[in-house]
Amino acid sequence: MTINSLQAMFDGEQLLADLEVLAQIGVDETTGGMVRLAYGAADRAGRAWVRGEMEKLGLAVTEDAAGNTIALYPGTEPDLPPIALASHTDTVPHGGKYDGALGVLAALAAVRTLHAAGVRLRHPVAIINFAAEEATMAGGTMGSRLMAGNYDVGLLQRLGWNGRSLADILREAGLDPNRITEAARPVGSLAAYVELHVEQGGLLAETKTAVGVVSGIVGIRRYQVVFLGYANHAGTTPMASRRDALWLAAPYVLQVRDVAVAHGIVGTVGEVTVSPGVANVIPGRVELSVEIRGLETAVLDAAETELRLAAEAVGAEFDFVEDKEPVLADPRIMEAIAASCRALGLLHRVMPSGAGHDGMNIVQLCPIGMIFVPSEGGISHSPDEYTVPEDNVNGGRVLLETLLRLDGVV
Ligand SMILES: [Zn+2]
Repeated sequence: MTINSLQAMFDGEQLLADLEVLAQIGVDETTGGMVRLAYGAADRAGRAWVRGEMEKLGLAVTEDAAGNTIALYPGTEPDLPPIALASHTDTVPHGGKYDGALGVLAALAAVRTLHAAGVRLRHPVAIINFAAEEATMAGGTMGSRLMAGNYDVGLLQRLGWNGRSLADILREAGLDPNRITEAARPVGSLAAYVELHVEQGGLLAETKTAVGVVSGIVGIRRYQVVFLGYANHAGTTPMASRRDALWLAAPYVLQVRDVAVAHGIVGTVGEVTVSPGVANVIPGRVELSVEIRGLETAVLDAAETELRLAAEAVGAEFDFVEDKEPVLADPRIMEAIAASCRALGLLHRVMPSGAGHDGMNIVQLCPIGMIFVPSEGGISHSPDEYTVPEDNVNGGRVLLETLLRLDGVV
């Protein structure tokens, strides 16, 4: 059986049909959006349907202590760890029908192809449907964080989408909150990890590129910058004697833009708090949230230094809030994806992921890679999210092809 004949057996129509079936589970009839919130009834129903499809292929399916669903297709060399193909089927409130779903159903389509052809790879193949990927629960990517062994104290007390504690939500989903650390897996327990996902940005669609070979998941740094002035009467204080904190903050917002552009990263001031915040008082204090995202630590360091100096130059406080370091894709996996695109005659480009994904946790267990397909108009986390049928099928084919190539590499 050659790789080409396996591609001929890849059932793209079935993949598209599966996407439509899953899109009926937890759909809100008013918005047309998906509401499969982590561990809730619709999420569980979606997962159960996917599990049933896995079992139709005779796969051994288990659910771990965090609620991650794992299906195993055996390989010919039982001592090798599995190559994981993964994504998630939970959604944000009123999300789209491709985010997460495509990766899980395309993994299923890839394994279905092997099953139909009676082909076994050297490695077992694991299809993982992660629990609680979306940030409706404890900050997101919770299932993969627990699989990677990152349990933070206080996790169970954090509140989920329905205002209840994670412990309660897990219990209602039939899971034992006291056992969630048992979801942790040892380093090296997977041979490699590949996730197909919609881009959630507009680059591929705008440039008419079929596939994004993800170079990594950007790091995120957040700061709080506080500008101090003097609040005073907006009618009686002459312009020349004002100390208006917003006069300091406004040019700084533009500096964040300029620093980001200069370093080829993205930078955002998303929150502005003006105090006292009334129309007839000169702003005495302004707080800005500043966030930068980029793939290279050195570039983020340089941008951070410039932002700090610019803040200090006007006497502002520059405080660190949060740092998630960048995660790089494995060059062998990137090359397997690129080679797959070439073999299938698909235009591709190397690009970072600006959004977080489960791979940023699983990288602690094994090398990771991601495949992006276009999101029309760059729209995601919305009922209007759309990926054209051909792009979905292309993504599934590239996933299958990448799996076949990686089997001989990792
Ligand atoms: Zn997603």
